[in-house]
Amino acid sequence: PADAPPTPPRIFRSKLPDIDIPNHLPLHNYCFQKLSSVSDKPCLIVGSTGKNYTYGETHLICRRVAAGLHKMGIRKGDVIMILLQNSAEFVFSFMGASMIGAVSTTANPFYTSQEIHKQVKSSGAKLIITHSHYVDKLRNLDGETRIGEDLTVITTEENPPPENCLPFSTLLLTDDETTSLDVVDVGGDDAAALPFSSGTTGLPKGVVLTHKSLITSVAQQVDGDNPNLYLKPNDVVLCVLPLFHIYSLNSVLLNSIRSGATVLLMHKFEIGALLDLIQRHKVTVAALVPPLVIALAKNPTVNSYDLSSVRLVLSGAAPLGKDLEDSLGRRLPQAVLGQGYGMTEAGPVLSMSLGFAKEPTPSKSGSCGTVVRNAELKVVHLETRLSLGYNQPGEICIRGQQIMKEYLNDPEATSATIDEEGWLHTGDIGYVDEADEIFIVDRLKEVPPAELEALLINHHSIADAAVVPQRDEVAGEVPVAFVVRSNGNVITEEDIKEYIAKQVVFYKRLHKVFFVPSIPKSPSGKILRKDLKAKLC
Ligand code: ATP
Ligand code: MG
Repeated sequence: PADAPPTPPRIFRSKLPDIDIPNHLPLHNYCFQKLSSVSDKPCLIVGSTGKNYTYGETHLICRRVAAGLHKMGIRKGDVIMILLQNSAEFVFSFMGASMIGAVSTTANPFYTSQEIHKQVKSSGAKLIITHSHYVDKLRNLDGETRIGEDLTVITTEENPPPENCLPFSTLLLTDDETTSLDVVDVGGDDAAALPFSSGTTGLPKGVVLTHKSLITSVAQQVDGDNPNLYLKPNDVVLCVLPLFHIYSLNSVLLNSIRSGATVLLMHKFEIGALLDLIQRHKVTVAALVPPLVIALAKNPTVNSYDLSSVRLVLSGAAPLGKDLEDSLGRRLPQAVLGQGYGMTEAGPVLSMSLGFAKEPTPSKSGSCGTVVRNAELKVVHLETRLSLGYNQPGEICIRGQQIMKEYLNDPEATSATIDEEGWLHTGDIGYVDEADEIFIVDRLKEVPPAELEALLINHHSIADAAVVPQRDEVAGEVPVAFVVRSNGNVITEEDIKEYIAKQVVFYKRLHKVFFVPSIPKSPSGKILRKDLKAKLC
């Protein structure tokens, strides 16, 4: 009947009970809350040199950097840019900035000068912490900004810094000088991190994550009597994914520090070095993205290393097909494998496998786990916007204190993403099954590539693959594939088309196959589809 009340939305929640989250604290106090009990334990290990820092040392250096930043004129609300590969200095800079209420915007050091310039400008960063390798990209950013005058540039290596730059040691003040820190009042709604969404689907936008949102997200993962992601002080957590992306910053670094675990920093991915470090430092927890899962599942060198210490493998940032998950499972039979699903704007974690919990419930392979605790998730119909029940695909929406505050200086984009009721619309299409597990099917406005990619990668002659839509007069859009052959294999375009045609409905069949030496991917592991699409024009 017309006058019946609207049906209440179907809301999905974690199977774990809500917990009290101390998200009134400043982020650094929350992360280092148990400092006194882990003070002599290793916090950071630098993979390339073996140098390590205990929790006590790490905290002290962060405080010195905080005081150093303050002395250089950085104040609450100011933005600093961290333009570094994974390194101890990255951690000191991020935590140091947090301690004085400054905001870290993180960027990929491999960005071009133009890309860096755009982010410096849009974030309003006053100071950049980087490595001397990248300083040339900062010179003449716009013909006006001069290093040492309009922009402070600090470089992290031990050699004398390039012209007009300052060495990292200028930030390291004495213990006496750190006492003034205790008066800085930060937390709650103050911004802590300003990542830029990676721009695979749109233009990069600054995502404002507050102390409250980051604490909430970390607590949703690792806090409580039965944490969703159970990390222990004797865990060694692999940090190979770049910290400038929120996945690694949040789910590797902040989660580990909160839990008192050891973070093993790798400044770049290289399969031999990775395997060697896992074996040498007895890594117990590995956070990965699908391209690294492919490497571990398919690379023959894996068999010459002892990876038996690994007890947990988390994959996120992009779809991981069931077959790939199963083949990694055969290589690491002792480990629990599962996925997390995140999005920069969502703070970032929406869901995670309960197979990682202290009292685990196994999750199905291919699933992204269950919505995190202290949050609500719904799936809405793409046209009617009504919320859907089990097994019905629609747009995934999330609500909770972990989500971003806003897009920086972009109220229009903010209100297009977060509605008046506080729901953040992800643009991802997925469904929730009867066991409350979330499956991502697709992204809005994209040909469904994940399913075809999973099939392709499962072929023994294919090392990697990506599928993108190509304009077609008849069908509008048709799928085409970019394929990397595995060593020494001579598979042809016809073979591949036939292999796919046998497994999918007619409209998903590949129209063309291009052989390429590698698939372009963002540092966070996502296929750069727009680069591939550009090749089709
Ligand atoms: P931009 O928003 O700038 O266009 P982006 O969406 O790729 O780029 P991120 O915030 O890094 O930037 O990525 C979030 C997206 O990654 C999610 O919206 C989702 O599409 C995808 N994703 C993350 N985890 C998973 C997962 N486990 N399975 C499938 N897709 C995932
Ligand atoms: Mg996005």
